[in-house]
Amino acid sequence: METRACEVVVIGGGASGLKAARQLVESGVDALVLEARDRVGGRTLSQTLVNGVTIDLGGQWVAPTQYRVLSLAQELGLGIFPTYEDGDGVVFQGGERSFFSGRTDADDPVSSADVKQGRLKLEALAASIPLEAPWTHPDAQALDRITYADWIEQNLTTDFGRWLFNFNAPGVFSVDASELSMLHVAFYFGAGGGFGVVTGTRGGGQDSRFHEGMQQLSIGLAKGLGERVLLNQVAGRIRQDDEGVTVWTDELEIRAKRVIVALSPTLAGRIRYQPALPALRDALTQRMPMGTAIKMMLVYDRPFWRDGGLSGFALTDCDVPQLIYDNSPEDGSCGILLGFTEGLPARRWIAESAEARRAEAIRTAVGCFGSEAGSPRDFIEKSWMEEEFSRGCYAGTMTPGSWTTFGTALRAPVGRIHWAGTETATYWNGYVEGALQAGERAAAEVIEAVRN
Ligand SMILES: Cc1cc2nc3c(=O)[nH]c(=O)nc-3n(C[C@H](O)[C@H](O)[C@H](O)COP(=O)(O)OP(=O)(O)OC[C@H]3O[C@@H](n4cnc5c(N)ncnc54)[C@H](O)[C@@H]3O)c2cc1C
Repeated sequence: METRACEVVVIGGGASGLKAARQLVESGVDALVLEARDRVGGRTLSQTLVNGVTIDLGGQWVAPTQYRVLSLAQELGLGIFPTYEDGDGVVFQGGERSFFSGRTDADDPVSSADVKQGRLKLEALAASIPLEAPWTHPDAQALDRITYADWIEQNLTTDFGRWLFNFNAPGVFSVDASELSMLHVAFYFGAGGGFGVVTGTRGGGQDSRFHEGMQQLSIGLAKGLGERVLLNQVAGRIRQDDEGVTVWTDELEIRAKRVIVALSPTLAGRIRYQPALPALRDALTQRMPMGTAIKMMLVYDRPFWRDGGLSGFALTDCDVPQLIYDNSPEDGSCGILLGFTEGLPARRWIAESAEARRAEAIRTAVGCFGSEAGSPRDFIEKSWMEEEFSRGCYAGTMTPGSWTTFGTALRAPVGRIHWAGTETATYWNGYVEGALQAGERAAAEVIEAVRN
């Protein structure tokens, strides 16, 4: 076993760990990054198709309020372009399709008013959450005791309103509304600037995409760090003592003053800690499960649905996929439909073959966009729960009771161990923006500790 020494070890070469390492190095702190995979970028993964078009199998969108992402993109010279949304959206339910323009809405005024008041209530609640400490909200206990599904049942009165809010949950969290603490839902929307911003396209969470793929953000950060990033190094054990920490991978033993664990709580909980972590911190790692999402793309010669005035956006009652976006390149040189299967449907379909999922995705696309959708020239998918070093996405979420019982353990350092990763963010938690914010915060903690 090779031994190394540095001032700070960062575990995880996703956006969060790389951002932390960069900040440390810029402050004159000697840091090394251990990355389990043979690539950086974690939950972002870009792939170039034979026609030269780059697609993202992980994170892909950036919002205008994701300032850290936008500034890093600018620094790295990465171009972005707006998500295509001209034309009507499709609702495909019970084998029938209907159309809508603008935000998803009901045909009848009563349901429409119900959706509007539900959105306003959720916006007000999200805006009231203290993002650094959601458990201090005056109604924290009551909100943490109920699920998002309970809140929908109590606050929406029409079938359509309830359907729409329940439908939205896996799209944002990749778990069912019945699995989420309502306090977490309010926190998450609050951290992203509100329900409308998080779920919206123009001006919102799905506003723009990267020509060269979102993984380039991490690749760019890693390039700047050079040999400080060590790939294929799975951190398995962390021991801390009065003088420092020792981190072990299969091949390396690294001695340092501090360590930043830039992983989701689920994966952080799989490392062995000596001495063992405090009970609350370990319990937290058991209460923030990763969601389930399968991201799939159907590639066509051209975005034919645009001819008929359709935006390529569709909501379906099918399992595969539930939600569809136009994911074509900006110049429309080929047509790409992006589908998401999330939450319970994803768990139902995860054991099926890729071929079965492909056939189902094509069937759904034909239902939404007509027979031309029946002959894609390519089908590409990524099932994130099966990834050993992600074990799901988009992020770890809080189950009922977790924020108020274990929330204080989310960011609090344990001796010389500091926590990063998007799950610890207070701004755009769950997104790449949150990952960068968390990396900055953890690095600042460590810089102060190392200097004192
Ligand atoms: C399908 C999908 C769609 C998404 N859509 C968007 C989107 O449109 N916009 C957006 O902003 N965000 C999106 N996200 C979320 C976004 O990708 C994540 O929030 C972000 O990438 C998390 O970064 P991170 O550094 O916190 O964690 P990760 O990216 O998970 O990085 C953790 C790193 O640690 C490594 N690792 C794990 N265990 C160990 C170990 N024991 N030792 C060493 N290394 C280890 C992993 O390999 C990984 O590289 C999406 C994610 C997915 C999967």
